[in-house]
Amino acid sequence: MATQKMLKFVTLGKEMPEKRAASMRAQDFDEIYREYAADKAAEQAGRCSQCGVPYCQSHCPLHNNIPDWLKLTAEGRLEEAYELSQATNTFPEICGRICPQDRLCEGNCVIEHSGHGTVTIGSVEKYLTDKAWEMGWVKPIRPQAERPESVAIIGAGPGGLAAADVLRRKGVQVTVYDRYDRAGGLMTYGIPGFKLEKPVVMQRIEQLELGGVNFVLNCAVGVDLSFDAIRGQHDAVLIATGVYKSRDIEAPGVGAAGVVKALDYLTASNRQSFGDEVADFDSGELNASGKRVVVIGGGDTAMDCVRTAVRQGALSVKCLYRRDRANMPGSQREVANAEEEGVEFVWLSAPKGFTGGVEVDGVMVQKMRLGAPDATGRQSPEVIEGADYVEPADLVIQALGFEPEDLPTLWNVPELKVTRWGTIKADFRTHETNLPGVYAAGDIVRGASLVVWAIRDGREAADAILGYLKQPEVMAAE
Ligand SMILES: Cc1cc2nc3c(=O)[nH]c(=O)nc-3n(C[C@H](O)[C@H](O)[C@H](O)COP(=O)(O)OP(=O)(O)OC[C@H]3O[C@@H](n4cnc5c(N)ncnc54)[C@H](O)[C@@H]3O)c2cc1C
Ligand code: SF4
Repeated sequence: MATQKMLKFVTLGKEMPEKRAASMRAQDFDEIYREYAADKAAEQAGRCSQCGVPYCQSHCPLHNNIPDWLKLTAEGRLEEAYELSQATNTFPEICGRICPQDRLCEGNCVIEHSGHGTVTIGSVEKYLTDKAWEMGWVKPIRPQAERPESVAIIGAGPGGLAAADVLRRKGVQVTVYDRYDRAGGLMTYGIPGFKLEKPVVMQRIEQLELGGVNFVLNCAVGVDLSFDAIRGQHDAVLIATGVYKSRDIEAPGVGAAGVVKALDYLTASNRQSFGDEVADFDSGELNASGKRVVVIGGGDTAMDCVRTAVRQGALSVKCLYRRDRANMPGSQREVANAEEEGVEFVWLSAPKGFTGGVEVDGVMVQKMRLGAPDATGRQSPEVIEGADYVEPADLVIQALGFEPEDLPTLWNVPELKVTRWGTIKADFRTHETNLPGVYAAGDIVRGASLVVWAIRDGREAADAILGYLKQPEVMAAE
């Protein structure tokens, strides 16, 4: 009997006859993928040793009850596992996809520390919640009773949305204002779709809308509507505006065409994937296709830019960072992913200027070495004289991080207290600012951070707001 030729599906870890594979339809692939994901989730969940010292849980910012929902998953009790996992996390499928697990839950798994490889907690969390959506276990909010109090949330990122969810479940009237045309904050327009698929974010927003959260989009507070007007219309306000002022390079030639900001570049790419018309993408200004791309920076935003450029069909992609690999702020997992995709990292290199005049054609690079450690113990980069060279480039993306905008000035509320870094000063447990009834959460308080921390802050701030709304003077004002 002639042996059949088998095809191996690497992602699925399965083999099947070539003829059958050729006749398969997309639905069949979906079916196989689901089966595979279910097997994998159960296998991984079953690896949890129920060690009794759940460092994974204490290193999850939301203190998710990981061991218990892993146990339920391993036993096939998926709906109960999902219920438990969503009890502490507003967006488990999003965290499962984009938390830097190697620095949080998985990095502290006892099995990982014993040298046997972590239980892939994030993937199980993603699987459970994707399954919950598929099975209809995720239900719109239906508060037991409506309450008359109303709360304004400025900023529809994960911090604002997590708070909206908690408040709405208690029947509070919630209005979320955002200056963008879509809600989701950086989950929608910052983080690339290959890490976080946009329908996953949009289905959450639709669910909040169905549950009665009112969204006012295309509304920039401080421009279209004053902060005072919002404060006057609502019983309490939560500021969750994130950090958007990009740190720019100060060097000759930085204003040349082709030297762009990371968030402009990533937003254009995300908008394009929504099917929007994006003039700067179509003109090539914010499109890496066919270009020699240089990204400057060593954080996670830089990693997202290099990996987006690869997907857009760049001719070459290089990442310049002034320190070495061991001292970069970005996740090592992301660096490894980028390297696998063909990105070249040029360590110990900093931009000194840009060549080409009106249109950039190269980055003047100065080579660095690591000097003595500073007060924090981190080695400072020093210039190596006489080692400069020009790195050819058609598109240069600046990804040096973000700072808060000057909200007290922009919103004409000079009395709102900020730190010396410009982040809003708020109580670390209640998240209340120095203005009564005004709270703040997420990156605008922490500085650029993570989705999971914004969710935690938003949930905590909402709890504190609920306490505030119960105060007699607020109730009397109704
Ligand atoms: C490129 C990139 C990739 C990232 N990748 C990851 C990742 O993989 N994993 C992870 O955990 N974190 C990641 N982060 C960080 C994460 O996205 C943020 O920490 C998180 O989104 C912060 O949430 P937030 O709600 O505080 O603010 P944001 O998500 O920034 O949302 C703030 C919202 O406020 C709105 N807003 C601002 N000012 C006004 C105004 N005046 N009026 C009305 N609306 C306003 C904005 O339009 C925005 O929608 C990434 C960040 C970037 C930039
Ligand atoms: S929320 Fe993030 S840190 Fe917490 S269990 Fe999920 S993936 Fe891990």
